[in-house]
Formats: sequence, structure tokens, C-alpha cells
Amino acid sequence: MTSARMENCDFCEMGRESLGGEHLGLSERQLHRDVRTGLGVFADIAPVKPGHLLLLAPGHELTMAAALAEDHQRWRYVDAVREAYLRTFPGDGLTILEHGSGGKGHRRDCIEHAHWHLLPFEHELGEIVDADLRAVVGDGQAEKEYLSDIRALDSRYSQSNYLLYLDHGEKPGPTQPPARVCLYSLKVSLPYQQYTRSVGYRHVAGATGAQAGALEWDWAIHASSNLVQQTMARQAEFARHVDSALSRPTTSRPLDLVVA
Ligand SMILES: [Zn+2]
Ligand SMILES: [Zn+2]
Repeated sequence: MTSARMENCDFCEMGRESLGGEHLGLSERQLHRDVRTGLGVFADIAPVKPGHLLLLAPGHELTMAAALAEDHQRWRYVDAVREAYLRTFPGDGLTILEHGSGGKGHRRDCIEHAHWHLLPFEHELGEIVDADLRAVVGDGQAEKEYLSDIRALDSRYSQSNYLLYLDHGEKPGPTQPPARVCLYSLKVSLPYQQYTRSVGYRHVAGATGAQAGALEWDWAIHASSNLVQQTMARQAEFARHVDSALSRPTTSRPLDLVVA
């Protein structure tokens, strides 16, 4: 785990004020920041729907597996964020996507600084991801595995090029664990630029893979101040739910104290 900063990384420059024009800078899109761990939650600048958030690693790690690194405090924050999300945006579900590049990314991918996309969907995106990656899995270029638990995203994967998919199923309760966690280990780059966003966009637009793949990513088209504002309108509520979850005494012991 490191807190190293990288120059010219938008996510390392969390304090930066504004991108200019009508688009809000990262600090203006902050929903919550954890003083203890440095993890923070922000509204995505080009949201698929209201409620499209990013959970950002505090330092310039290349995977959330490295950023979370079996650190109990950080995982506790992750749990508080999941709970707060399901309380603040009820009825829409919660799907999490991450492209962990492990330094093997491609220019078409997301910013390499480790982050999760938190998306208001139940389980619909899983079918799109499966369809996208079926061919590469079949060719041995990717391997799909189900993780027993979200915390199984551990240091084994910290240097990997992977796609993490996690959903909370239908009608999730705020304190329930994820319904499904799976990880595709990749030997190739992901199809489509801005892949994690493209999955949500294609579901919303009902576009086929080929149509979406042919689109060149254009921030002028995709960045939406209106959707960002709708998300930011829930900021105080979201932050209150995170703080409330964090202030509760932990009921589960740290993993390293659990006796099998
Ligand atoms: Zn960075
Ligand atoms: Zn991203």
C-alpha cells in the first residue's frame, strides 16, 4: 500500500478546483472523504445515471486489490459506503465495476488510478460483461472466477489486469453482503474504450456491443452536468449514512482475528 502521488493524474489531484467550463472539478463532486483512510467517494463526471459514483484509492495504486490490501479500516469504509449507497439510492440496486490494470492498461481504458464505479443497477450489467468477455474467456485470454466474498479481492490480485464485477442482486438490503462477486483475469485489454462506463451506457441505451464499440469516446457528448447535479443533491444524505455506519461499533472482528 502506498500513498504516492502521480503527476498529471486527475484522481491524485483531488484538491484541484475545476476543469473549467461547466464541468465540476473532482473536489466539487466529492460526496464523502474518510479522514482515517483517505478513501473518498465522488460523483462520476460522465454519469450513466444519477447515482453513478466513484470510490477512489487515496494513493496512486493501480488496483483496488492493492489499495485495500487486507486493511481492516479500509474495508470497513467500503462496507459503510455500500450500506450508505443502498440507503441513499434505494430501489436501484448496486453494481460495482473495476478495471484493475496492474500497470497493464491501455490508452482506451479508464484512468489507471485505482477506483470502483458504483452504479445503480441490480444485476443487469453482469450479462453484458459476460457477453463481452465470453470469446476471450473461450480463447484462454481471460479467466472468470467467483470470489467467495468481497474481501477475497486481496493482494493476490494487486498486480493483475482484471475486471471486477460485483452486484447486490434484486431488492438488496443495506447491510446485506454482495450477492455475486466475480473477477475476470485478463491477458488482453478490454473491448471498447472507457469500458466500465460503456457497460452502463450500453444497458441504458439498449445499444449492441458493435454499435457501442464503433463510438469514439467524446467527453463533450458524455459529460453531463445535469446528472451530476442530481447526484450531488443527495450528497448530505449520503455522507450522513456513511458517518452513521462508521460510528457503529464493529460487530465483526478483523479477518486476521477470525478463528477457523
Ligand atoms: Zn493517481
Ligand atoms: Zn473508471
